[in-house]
Amino acid sequence: MENLISLVNRLQRACTALGDHGDESALPTLWDSLPSIAVVGGQSSGKSSVLESVVGKDFLPRGAGIVTRRPLVLQLHRIDEGREYAEFAHLPRKRFTDFAAVRKEIADETDRETGRSKQISTVPIYLSIYSPNVVNLTLIDLPGLTKVAVEGQPDSIVHDIENMVRSYIEKPNCIILAISPANQDIATSDAIKISREVDPKGERTFGVLTKIDLMDKGTDAVDMLEGRSYKLQFPWIGVVNRSQADINKSVDMIAARRREREYFSSTPEYKHLSHRMGSEHLGKVLSKHLESVIKSRIPGLQSLINKTIIELETELSRLGKPIATDAGGKLYMIMEICRIFDQIFKEHLDGIRPGGDKVYNVFDNQLPAALKRLQFDKQLAMENVRKLITEADGYQPHLIAPEQGYRRLIESTLVTIKGPAEASVDAVHAILKDLVHKSINETSELKQYPSLRVEVASAACESLDRMRDESKKATLQLVEMECSYLTVDFFRKLPQDIEKGGNPTHSIFDRYNDSYLRRIGSNVLSYVHMVVGTLRNSIPKSVVYCQVREAKRSLLDHFFAELGKKEGKQLGTLLDEDPGIMQRRISLAKRLELYRAAQSEIDTVAWSK
Ligand code: GDP
Ligand code: MG
Repeated sequence: MENLISLVNRLQRACTALGDHGDESALPTLWDSLPSIAVVGGQSSGKSSVLESVVGKDFLPRGAGIVTRRPLVLQLHRIDEGREYAEFAHLPRKRFTDFAAVRKEIADETDRETGRSKQISTVPIYLSIYSPNVVNLTLIDLPGLTKVAVEGQPDSIVHDIENMVRSYIEKPNCIILAISPANQDIATSDAIKISREVDPKGERTFGVLTKIDLMDKGTDAVDMLEGRSYKLQFPWIGVVNRSQADINKSVDMIAARRREREYFSSTPEYKHLSHRMGSEHLGKVLSKHLESVIKSRIPGLQSLINKTIIELETELSRLGKPIATDAGGKLYMIMEICRIFDQIFKEHLDGIRPGGDKVYNVFDNQLPAALKRLQFDKQLAMENVRKLITEADGYQPHLIAPEQGYRRLIESTLVTIKGPAEASVDAVHAILKDLVHKSINETSELKQYPSLRVEVASAACESLDRMRDESKKATLQLVEMECSYLTVDFFRKLPQDIEKGGNPTHSIFDRYNDSYLRRIGSNVLSYVHMVVGTLRNSIPKSVVYCQVREAKRSLLDHFFAELGKKEGKQLGTLLDEDPGIMQRRISLAKRLELYRAAQSEIDTVAWSK
């Protein structure tokens, strides 16, 4: 019994944690995971008496005739200390400490449902007994099986009772106490008949022979008790309950037990069996059986608990951390979430996550292609060269070389590079923005806080806008720099007309002739190509410097600066979690804690095997 008590207590602590909280737990409650014990048998076979002696308490109406007319589901709850009391489900908060009153209430409640008749009801009465002297168990006292309807009962009564009884004992975790009176032929035992139906192998059926003291003189139950008349998986147990006369005289349980012991040890026929007879022995057998049944359930329960713990943990981590209550904690949380976002963003750029390579694609493909598309040839077509040179000469044609004309031609050509340069800036900007959105979505911590998510996204985009503006300035500056100072060496190295033996004093007509202009055009073109070559390298550097590097370095700096000025309340609005989620987290966390407690309780039980 001690073993059972501690086993069940541990299990109870575990299961209370699991299911008895009424949470929408998918796990069995204590009462589901523990076996229940039901008494079945014919009318007046002694069911209520046996049940009482298993509990060790007088509280059930017993007697001749149909006394138990509704199922009684009795839950024994062990309490650590205090006076024992009983409570009915139909009378919540009313504590019965007088067990005679309990018996009366059972009878009264039976009458309330059925009237003072012989009617039977399938509606159970739920009774809980809280006591330091019990183990947590469910015991079920059932109306007796009958063969015929008696006066006041409907004809269907026989089947109704049978069905009701079956509905209780067919549950695989129900231990059946099949009560048969010894003073009746076992062949007629209703208890054996119905329990064989639901438990054909007899793995959970205990045969109890009552009223051994009432057998006809000259007959005995030895054949029965030794299993020769009817063999059961577990040996038959004989008991001698209190007779009606004892009940009338209010013989107490202790005295009744003593008399029962004396009966078996002093009756010659049963002397050799006395060690395995009697209510006390029945109690021991039951508790041993319960122990092994419960232990066999432990691995299943353990794996169920472990599985649920994993599920709870997964869901909790999906919901994210709870919000800090103080301003400092909130600020820290926001910074921490931002840091995670920032890290993800950097990972995209650095190739740990995808997308950063698109930036290189801009420099490697888009920019060169756009530069190629610039139609310098058109710009430097002869007519245009002529026009610009002539215009630059003004009223006086140039004397040696058309210096001004060259400058204008070069400048007007180089200016067209601004287009592709700006386009590179914009393309990289678009990529970075896209990566910001990707990173926002990939920061699971931000999902929890929609406002923070919006703020961080817009702060990051604002930063990117600023960087784009800076980048544009710097990149265009590169082009302007090329326009504003030409590489002198290039021109010095150009073959001069004079050196070639040409005559510098051409006629004005010669100066603007086609081949002359063509040469100017091709000189300008090769200069421009040289500059384009330089810019193709320097534009990416400028873009990376102003946008990519800057985004990696200070994407949220501005946001952080603003954050520092905010007060607790404003920070709170950023962390405006959905209250439903908050609630869910609290309840999940509570359940997780309970499950962990249950896990450790069950583990100790399992190890102590
Ligand atoms: P139930 O109808 O099956 O619940 O049977 P009860 O427990 O109410 O008992 C019916 C009657 O039989 C009561 O008057 C009991 O006192 C009596 N009774 C039950 N068991 C025994 C027994 O082992 N010996 C004697 N002498 N009477 C018993
Ligand atoms: Mg009864």
